[in-house]
Amino acid sequence: MMENKEELARIITAENGKPLKEAQGEIVYSASFLEWFAEEARRIYGDVIPASAKDRRVLVLKQPVGVAAVITPWNFPSAMITRKVGAALAAGCTVVVKPAEDTPLSALALGELANQAGIPAGVYNVVPCSRQQTAAVGEVLCTDPLVSKISFTGSTATGKILLKHAAGTVKRVSMELGGHAPFIVFDNANVDRAVAGALASKYRNSGQTCVCTNRFLVQKGIHDEFVEKFAKAIEKELHVGNGFDAKTTQGPLINEKAVEKVEKHIKDAVSQGASIVTGGKRHSLGKNFFEPTLLSNVTTKMLCTQEETFGPLAPVIKFETEAEAVAIANAANVGLAGYFYSQDPAQIWRVAEQLEVGMVGVNEGIISSVECPFGGVKESGLGREGSKYGIDEYLEIKYVCLGGL
Ligand code: NAP
Repeated sequence: MMENKEELARIITAENGKPLKEAQGEIVYSASFLEWFAEEARRIYGDVIPASAKDRRVLVLKQPVGVAAVITPWNFPSAMITRKVGAALAAGCTVVVKPAEDTPLSALALGELANQAGIPAGVYNVVPCSRQQTAAVGEVLCTDPLVSKISFTGSTATGKILLKHAAGTVKRVSMELGGHAPFIVFDNANVDRAVAGALASKYRNSGQTCVCTNRFLVQKGIHDEFVEKFAKAIEKELHVGNGFDAKTTQGPLINEKAVEKVEKHIKDAVSQGASIVTGGKRHSLGKNFFEPTLLSNVTTKMLCTQEETFGPLAPVIKFETEAEAVAIANAANVGLAGYFYSQDPAQIWRVAEQLEVGMVGVNEGIISSVECPFGGVKESGLGREGSKYGIDEYLEIKYVCLGGL
């Protein structure tokens, strides 16, 4: 069926609209989890602990948790599956994957690849379903006593429902939930690097990633220059269009509801005094295409600074002091990623330690990679994926006491 990664990338572009180049990047990212965890499988070490009693020996074994149910979103239809399934299989678990209704094809394509790779039948299972069935399927997966582990990536609202279901049988859970990433630019930042980072962090996947910047906080002294250069970069470097066209950098949003949310956030902000610097409306291509948008004169009273937009909207808040920026950044009930640009080493340490998030990009706008622990604090989730820590989410620790020696 699939002869090369190009075909897998084309499936992603066809099912969620992201530009082919980004889809190709996702396939490499997706495959990296399988490679990484295949290697980690060889390092699931146990332990021998010195015992306090002379006639005892204390061992620690690591064992697979059992069947893992995996529920994934549409925005990375391949990588969000392999980030979980790679770790689960390496730990010795079997998996049941429920992909998003909008993007079942990548999950099924991975099934075909699993067959081709010789994964035994019944180890990687996919249960696509219509949106009408989603809640019922989710409930079965989270309550069935045969399932020992739930690993979910998606919105915080859905995560809370699944946590409630999972509580009935006290299942192990990993939750990768929503974000509201701040991107702080301090006066001493390299403004050109900050603009490049802002562009990458905000507009990747048309703003539809959980680690996309959701609000920009820019210090008074650098504010005007940053906004002017950011607007120019948006207008010059971003091209809205069909994901299969080579020059497209911004595909359509996933559905009409997503477009309506961006519109609602812009309308609310403008009604409270924000200014549209560039963009601001549906793209002339129609349907789900939206112009990459930059707003200035934004305040913390506006909706776009209070909840995840999950679209191509960049709101800029002007601030005066470091303490003020950190307070605004931390005034959120979620904490996934956070970014800041500064050239002052003391400030870099201070702010990196103070931000209430699971991942911090310092002078970097794109930070996800297989060897780094991915996950959030507060209502952004529980547990970590990828890295040397990711496999622990699928392992139980068993203590064995050998007595009477
Ligand atoms: P969502 O509505 O929560 O959907 C995610 C998955 O959950 C889909 O498979 C969806 O199925 C399923 N689902 C929805 N309601 C369910 C229920 N009651 N029971 C069981 N499953 C249910 O999330 P989304 O809005 O599509 O995705 C965007 C969100 O995901 C954003 O908040 C983003 O920040 C977050 N996200 C987080 C990470 C991370 O690693 N932290 C990564 C990517 C995205 P249907 O498609 O059938 O509705």
